Order: sequence, then structure tokens, then C-alpha cells
Amino acid sequence: MMTYFKEILVGFWSLLMGMAVTIRYFTKPIVTVQYPREKIKMSPAYRGYPQLIIDPETKTHKCIACEMCSRICPSQLIAVEGAKFPGEKQKRATSYVHEHYYCSLCGLCTEVCPTTALEYSDEYRLAGFKREDAVIDHLILLQKRQQALGLAPTPVPTAEEIAAAAAAEAAAKEAREKEAKAKAAAAKKPAEEVKE
Ligand code: SF4
Ligand code: SF4
Repeated sequence: MMTYFKEILVGFWSLLMGMAVTIRYFTKPIVTVQYPREKIKMSPAYRGYPQLIIDPETKTHKCIACEMCSRICPSQLIAVEGAKFPGEKQKRATSYVHEHYYCSLCGLCTEVCPTTALEYSDEYRLAGFKREDAVIDHLILLQKRQQALGLAPTPVPTAEEIAAAAAAEAAAKEAREKEAKAKAAAAKKPAEEVKE
């Protein structure tokens, strides 16, 4: 009989202890992240995949398609293409694809970039169902990030626009070469006349 009452008392005491813990934490701020509805703010030191920086002045990327990041990447994960469009001083990227699955986050691509066009993203949700899920088209990603920030998305040039830009650049190069040859010939002529 004594054991029976003892068990009731112990059970009641344990219930009170449990309720005390519940009441104590009831008033404290919630620390559980309600994933996937909530996202964690990552530390500035966190390294997600390298991505194109949105320049605060121009509101677009600063990639001039020099391909230095692509050449220095030890795992050869970056493919960049670019073109020089009429009226623009430098080339700009027309395609920037990064295969993230073998990326060691070594940082060489971000360090070598002459225009500081790359940064690490704060994205940590990197799981996928197939290998292609880790292939990132950075110009498309840039458009999504710009839209999320309320900025106008940077248009990705079409194949026709790229071909027209290449033809215009080739014609301009030919014209420059002709001009340089004409100048050289004109400079040579007076020198020959002096000799005579
Ligand atoms: S962080 Fe390193 S491994 Fe990753 S893409 Fe850049 S250079 Fe390649
Ligand atoms: S090094 Fe910088 S500018 Fe050159 S292709 Fe890579 S991201 Fe673009």
C-alpha cells in the first residue's frame, strides 16, 4: 500500500518538475528557426558558392569576361563567355556558368578577379536531387537576385545580338588596322623623300 502512494507522489512530483520547465521557457524568446519558412542570417565569414556582385552604382555585374577566374580555378568549374558590344569600352559576360559540385571554396576565383566582380553568396540550402542542380547559370541567378531587390534585371544577350556584336567588333578591328597601316605608310613616305 505504501509503495502505491509513493509511486503516485513521485509521478506527481515529476509532473510538477516538467510543468516548471515548460512554464520557465514559455516566456523566453523562441530560438528555433521555422525552416523552411524562416532563413538563418549567415555570418559574413560564411562561404556559399561564388556569385557575381551587384554593383551599387550600376546595379548590374562588373564581369568583363577576362576569363581569369576560369583559368585559375583548380577544378576548372567556371565557363565564361563575353562580347564587346558597340558603344561599350570593355567586353562583358554573355554567359557565366559555374559547376559548384566540385568547388572547394578555395577563393582563387574571387581573389584573381581584376574588377572584384565576385563574392561568396550566403546561400546554404545547396541540396539537390541530381548533379545538374549544382550547375549555376550566374547571369540568370543575377536576374533573380536583382528582381528580389526590386532592381531591373540585366538582360542576357541573345545569340543574334552576340553574333552582331562580334561582327561589329571584327569590322572595327579591320578599320583600326587599315588606319594604322595608312598612318605607317604616310610616316614612311617623307623619310624616303628626305633620303632622295
Ligand atoms: S572557389 Fe576555387 S574551386 Fe570554387 S570555383 Fe572558385 S577557384 Fe574554383
Ligand atoms: S575574373 Fe572577374 S571579370 Fe574576369 S571573367 Fe572572372 S568574374 Fe569576370
